[in-house]
Amino acid sequence: MRSPLIAGNWKMNGSLALVEQFGEAFADANVPPDVSIALMLPFPYLAVAQRALSGTPMAWGGQTLHDQRSGAFTGEVSGSMLVEFGARYVLIGHSERRAMFHEDDAAVLARVSAALDVGLTPVVCVGETLAEREAGRTEDVVLKQVDVVFSGIDAEARERLVIAYEPVWAIGTGKTASPDQAQAIHASIRAHVEQYSVALAAGLHVLYGGSMKAANAAELLAQPDIDGGLIGGASLQVDEFLAICQSA
Ligand code: PGA
Repeated sequence: MRSPLIAGNWKMNGSLALVEQFGEAFADANVPPDVSIALMLPFPYLAVAQRALSGTPMAWGGQTLHDQRSGAFTGEVSGSMLVEFGARYVLIGHSERRAMFHEDDAAVLARVSAALDVGLTPVVCVGETLAEREAGRTEDVVLKQVDVVFSGIDAEARERLVIAYEPVWAIGTGKTASPDQAQAIHASIRAHVEQYSVALAAGLHVLYGGSMKAANAAELLAQPDIDGGLIGGASLQVDEFLAICQSA
């Protein structure tokens, strides 16, 4: 019922040449037709993505956006600018944005609203730190992050969100949540969202992120409540990312 979404998050990595390489490789790549694929790119690469990735099964998106449409916000990029470059998705509330750029709950919600206003699909990242997990607070933390967003938007808008569960201790560390650990929290997220609507919960895409790679993707993606992946490091190599897409 929920066809998988495999999204790469290049973070502040890559090059124009790498975007071209992905475009060439995916133009005739053998990926299952029911798998949606996207690359979340640094802003300067969106123009070339629009050219190089059009005609491939791959969509693209930004890694953040500002919550205002335009104005005196030096250095920022608005959702409508992303749309001009053909972006379909935008990451919001990635743990690196929360930790390094001080994006709090209010900022995450404002960005989700801004993305929805211009027709982008927000991929909202949630996840606990190691200290929170060790203190037994994983569910509290994650479900609160989910609620901040779901309770702040209307029923129709909720249908347009994607959630990415990314335990902070698994990001870029090589330590993946075990399939059972990930499945448990994915199932809790879905059960929790049922309070908004059972149909919403059943259709909600919850991606897993945190050291996902070709070698562990199939096992994670086989879990009933894992509906795709958000892939950082392993999305920077064509063969590795393609193998993940093929295992979905
Ligand atoms: P990683 O990053 O796959 O390199 O752990 C995932 C992410 O931060 O989205």
